[in-house]
Amino acid sequence: MYDYDVAIVGSGLGGLVCGAVLGMHGYKVGIFEKNRQIGGCLQTYARDKTIIDTGVHYIGGLGDGQNINTIFRYLGIFDSLKLKQMDADAFDVIGFDDEQKTYKLAQGYDNFKRQLLADFPGEEAALDKYCDKIKEVCAKFPLYNLRTGDYTEKAEILNIDTSTFLSTITANKKLQQVLAGNNLLYAGVADTTPFYIHALITNSFIESSWKCVDGGSQIAKLLGKKIHALGGEIHRNSKIVQLAGKGAIEYALLEHGKKITAKHFISNLHPAQTMELTESEALRNVYRTRLQNLDNTIGTFLLNIVLKKDTFPYLNYNYYHHETQDAWEGVNYTNDNWPLTYALFANATSKSEQYTDSLTIMTYMRYEDVSKWKDTFNTDSLPQERGDDYEAFKNEKAEQLLDIVEKRFPNIRNCIQSYYVATPLSYRDYQGSADGSMYGILKDYRNSFNTFIAPRTRVPNLFLTGQNLNLHGILGVTISALITCGELLNIGELLREITSEP
Ligand SMILES: Cc1cc2nc3c(=O)[nH]c(=O)nc-3n(C[C@H](O)[C@H](O)[C@H](O)COP(=O)(O)OP(=O)(O)OC[C@H]3O[C@@H](n4cnc5c(N)ncnc54)[C@H](O)[C@@H]3O)c2cc1C
Repeated sequence: MYDYDVAIVGSGLGGLVCGAVLGMHGYKVGIFEKNRQIGGCLQTYARDKTIIDTGVHYIGGLGDGQNINTIFRYLGIFDSLKLKQMDADAFDVIGFDDEQKTYKLAQGYDNFKRQLLADFPGEEAALDKYCDKIKEVCAKFPLYNLRTGDYTEKAEILNIDTSTFLSTITANKKLQQVLAGNNLLYAGVADTTPFYIHALITNSFIESSWKCVDGGSQIAKLLGKKIHALGGEIHRNSKIVQLAGKGAIEYALLEHGKKITAKHFISNLHPAQTMELTESEALRNVYRTRLQNLDNTIGTFLLNIVLKKDTFPYLNYNYYHHETQDAWEGVNYTNDNWPLTYALFANATSKSEQYTDSLTIMTYMRYEDVSKWKDTFNTDSLPQERGDDYEAFKNEKAEQLLDIVEKRFPNIRNCIQSYYVATPLSYRDYQGSADGSMYGILKDYRNSFNTFIAPRTRVPNLFLTGQNLNLHGILGVTISALITCGELLNIGELLREITSEP
């Protein structure tokens, strides 16, 4: 007799969606989360009575009939979400260098083209080519379109490089840079990032862009409620330290020694971490080595600012800035020119329509930059000071970042009540990744197939889910969770249930 039909390691969005879907199909689900709060990157925290998001600043595809809307409705959480649609004419605004002029990325394909044509008259053909290619590429991903299909459909478009493709549609360098302008969304690397990553993400935001009012943790809370209502259990402060069994997994071992038995196990962790936990000899060394050696995306430095009341207007768009004319240069910063890029997100709060109460400013930071403090570990359930030198490092970097931001938002320093910083170490400790990578496994158009991770492993009862499978983000992780559930359920029937009207 097992404790659970399915035991899920980690309560990130991937683990929670799997828990809800499988619970809806009669499986007894147990989720084990090492942190005090569920949700992984969906977690929020409060400072000075202000909610701060850690890993969700906007979401695409939530409009009527769009993919995430359809899945969230199926999961029964959509109607309870507090959402605000972003500015129809500009969900993202892109700026470069000291240029006053900024460029708008708009919602709806016609509007998207119209807004850019105002800045780039004569580029209609290029924008048509761009939009058509995005749609063509997205159509090749069956699950993204909530239909069945097979992986060969996308084979021919996997080896397109984003920066090269953009250079083929127009000779206008500025337009190329503007179209790549929000590549912090996927930690874009010139001559490396596959176009399908750019297309799947961009399409969802062009379809429609939304902020979560009062934070993204509402998604995790609603999914948690759903799982409980279906008889599932979520155990917080419950770190899994081993998936034991020489062949199939026999039990998951909790840090405090308890053994959890289940018929099936799903890991929401980075595959490299899953390999470390799994002793099964069914996993070949070549597979383990492949997963452990995949490169990850760069880490992030996040400056979360609590604002003085009614000082900073609520911006219903995100602002992406590049310190040079090259939108791809951000990841290549050196110690001397950091930061070369940032994204500024205004929090949507139920307290005011006119003003925001907090800002998140996100830029890149490599793990090496903080590796000096790698032997420290700090989360709210296991707090530890990393030391005065770490605090001084964070403050110095925060001020450096503000110096750049201030050029575009001159009054910002006067609006600050307090600020809080997260580094790759924060993400490492909260998410459980090895290096605090922002979005998990790095995708490269030269070996796209190698970076798709199948949910099924050679261990007969061990499955994988989460951002490392196919695509990160709310959209990518939700769809990956359906793929994982499709290993235990009939995927065709599941998709029919999701897409049929209630
Ligand atoms: C700074 C930042 C900004 C982002 N902004 C956006 C955005 O605006 N829009 C968007 O769509 N996406 C955004 N993303 C991406 C998105 O948040 C993630 O891709 C997604 O939430 C990841 O979900 P996941 O299920 O893969 O797992 P994770 O969120 O990584 O969760 C994994 C969970 O497993 C737990 N865990 C780890 N080890 C163990 C263990 N041994 N035992 C038990 N539990 C364990 C962790 O504590 C964690 O809760 C952002 C990400 C970052 C980092």
